[in-house]
Amino acid sequence: MTEKIHIVYSEKHRLHRDPAEIHAENPWRVENIVSELKSSDLWSLVDLIETPSPDYNTVLLAHSVEYVEWLKRECNKGFHYIDADTYVNEYTCDLAASFATASRQAALSALRHGGVWIILARPGGHHAGRNGRAMSAPTLGFCIFDYTSIAALSVLNYEAIPLALDFDAHHGNGSQEILWSEPRVIHVDIHQWRIYPGTGWVTDIGGQGAEGTKINIPLYRGSGDPEFAWTLNYVVKRVVDIVKPNILVVFAGFDAHVDDPLSGLEATEHTYTLYGSYLRELLETNIIQGVIIILGGGYSRGLISGFKSLVEGLLGLKKPVVIEPRSPGEHVENTLPLILKKLIENLENMKSKSF
Ligand SMILES: [Zn+2]
Repeated sequence: MTEKIHIVYSEKHRLHRDPAEIHAENPWRVENIVSELKSSDLWSLVDLIETPSPDYNTVLLAHSVEYVEWLKRECNKGFHYIDADTYVNEYTCDLAASFATASRQAALSALRHGGVWIILARPGGHHAGRNGRAMSAPTLGFCIFDYTSIAALSVLNYEAIPLALDFDAHHGNGSQEILWSEPRVIHVDIHQWRIYPGTGWVTDIGGQGAEGTKINIPLYRGSGDPEFAWTLNYVVKRVVDIVKPNILVVFAGFDAHVDDPLSGLEATEHTYTLYGSYLRELLETNIIQGVIIILGGGYSRGLISGFKSLVEGLLGLKKPVVIEPRSPGEHVENTLPLILKKLIENLENMKSKSF
């Protein structure tokens, strides 16, 4: 894989900001990633693309009209908090909608032309459900529109199978809620157990007719590289073998990094290099056509080093170190065979329906 990676970026993201500059979700997160890439050899391998104009019809793939209209009204009021965690201002709605539009376009480009498409999205995405707060979460958790669901749902009309992989430290409750009963989108979510938003139990495997297509891997506090390596080997690789997805939509949060103040997970750069290398392997062997990576959380230096390590792994510039895998615990090991059995049954069901 020698071609460039496509990075969707817009300076406009800087307009979504807390004037008091105390919120963890701030423009420096993306600006620091870009500066780091610019100052490295990596930059020559980047094709920088401007974010498209917002298309609200794309947002409606995942969200209700009522939610979108309510958000527009809130954004028009200017800077304020819409819940205890989440701020908006007059730029937020259009910005989130333009990243949602970018996610759809990247998914379609990945399907048609292959390659790696990275969306440097702000604000966040995976906690936003169809009507806003998802699965009884107390807040929207810094998120506005769920880019992951939008990207994955965008390719269904082309009879493609998307696999969504979320390794942000928090559970993607918005994505899970939106995709819950959709058997054609496989969703694997690795997160710390019992932190915000409190959902993502291993026994949550999908709604009626979609059982086994939603796979939650909750990790105990203190889990890190060995558990992420185990999950890659025994969950992600097996799911890819079973599903044979056309594209991967990765919600890449870096708040599972050991330095991050918002989780108790202890992943290091090695995890992100390992995951990047695996994505490269899938592309090189043509097992998948393309990868879309959507920026998730990450609120420390680990965001910058983790992101860079993921990209270095993807481009083959850094080889992963050997990590001895360690099981996340019996709660996962005991339930996984049942989930995979249901997943296989579901895929067979879908195949028989399409003939
Ligand atoms: Zn997070």
